[in-house]
Amino acid sequence: MAEAKSGLNITAIRDDFPILKREIHGRPLVYLDNAATSQTPTQVIDVIVDYYSRYNANIHRGVHTLSQEATEAYEGARIKLQEHFNARKPYEIIFTSGTTHSINLVANGFVPFLEQGDELLVSAMEHHSNIVPWQMLCEKTGASLKVIPMNADGELVMETFHSLLNENTKLVFCNHVSNALGTVNPIEEIIHAAHAVGAAVLIDGAQAAPHMVADVQALDVDFYTISGHKVCGPTGIGMLYGKEEWLNKMPPYQGGGEMISEVTFEKTTYAGLPHKFEAGTPNICGGIAFGAAIDYLNGIGFDAIAAYEKELLEYATERLLSIEGLKIYGTSKNKTSVISFNVKGIHPYDIGTLLDKMGVAVRTGHHCAQPIMDFYQIPGTVRASFSFYNSREEVDILVECIQRAVQMLS
Ligand SMILES: *Cc1c(COP(=O)(O)O)cnc(C)c1O
Repeated sequence: MAEAKSGLNITAIRDDFPILKREIHGRPLVYLDNAATSQTPTQVIDVIVDYYSRYNANIHRGVHTLSQEATEAYEGARIKLQEHFNARKPYEIIFTSGTTHSINLVANGFVPFLEQGDELLVSAMEHHSNIVPWQMLCEKTGASLKVIPMNADGELVMETFHSLLNENTKLVFCNHVSNALGTVNPIEEIIHAAHAVGAAVLIDGAQAAPHMVADVQALDVDFYTISGHKVCGPTGIGMLYGKEEWLNKMPPYQGGGEMISEVTFEKTTYAGLPHKFEAGTPNICGGIAFGAAIDYLNGIGFDAIAAYEKELLEYATERLLSIEGLKIYGTSKNKTSVISFNVKGIHPYDIGTLLDKMGVAVRTGHHCAQPIMDFYQIPGTVRASFSFYNSREEVDILVECIQRAVQMLS
């Protein structure tokens, strides 16, 4: 397993992740639920321990040394994210608790800009967190939601997308990569066409960020969201990138400390960016660890990660398709290392449960994307999602265990 063709030293990389040494039901853990949450390397765990051991303090308010050190590290993480996504300004990076929070912040921010007759376009393959906040926004404003359909390969039907766009379209939102299918969506084309009719675009990058780097200026995207826990960082921290002009126009999401300039009982004025959107004491340690996680991934290199994961995806796809009755959902040529599948006549939950008994962690169910399951008319799928720290041997174990599970169940 030592050297992959792509040049990654998988043995050394796996040593960075203490959890990969765990055993589950007496078997070595094979962790293939990376699309739900990624594992955390020692380099990030150490940053968390160091924060609580040496400089835990509240930020921005204190004159004392600990507070200054914490502020510096937290704002340093913001700059890491700014550089990683090539945002124009550090204050275009808003720390949130994750993608869900980021999307809700924007949906709330658009309340004053929408009225009856306005249209919002959503893709058919969204995570519920990129559907429900917009339905709530439509309820508040009288705007309506239109759906960009998908085809059987799990790709967006772009002709229909173009025909749905019109001068009433105010917002388009779509994931960069589908968490349920792995499809990489043509976001450049979506952003370009939406801007041509004057609509803003939010791209949910939660599932893209572990696999590729988005350049928000080159994309000219209005909003881009990610979650720390899917890029080897901790839970409870995420990012909203927003273009400065939008962030200035949108009202704050929550009121409280940190987000104000001046408060009297007659009138409160809001702080400037990014603080206007960061009410209350934030997840300081999480933000710092988020920055360390981005450093860790860049240390390995996204080109090497993408090349290796492509190898793994091709190998796993080929091996899985050798299992009789196994059908893969999401067969776009352009996809990340996510494989959603079912075996004929067997409920996904039953396979997932047996795999767990054999130490293999996969996801089963609708993956927070029920409209996709409705499209395929299935209750759910088994989803194996691979990371750069997974090995070919683990693919072999997965295939062997599915075969055993199928034997036991049929
Ligand atoms: C995980 C995920 C989300 C939700 O992220 P949270 O961290 O739970 O807020 C949204 N969209 C996609 C595509 C995801 O993969």
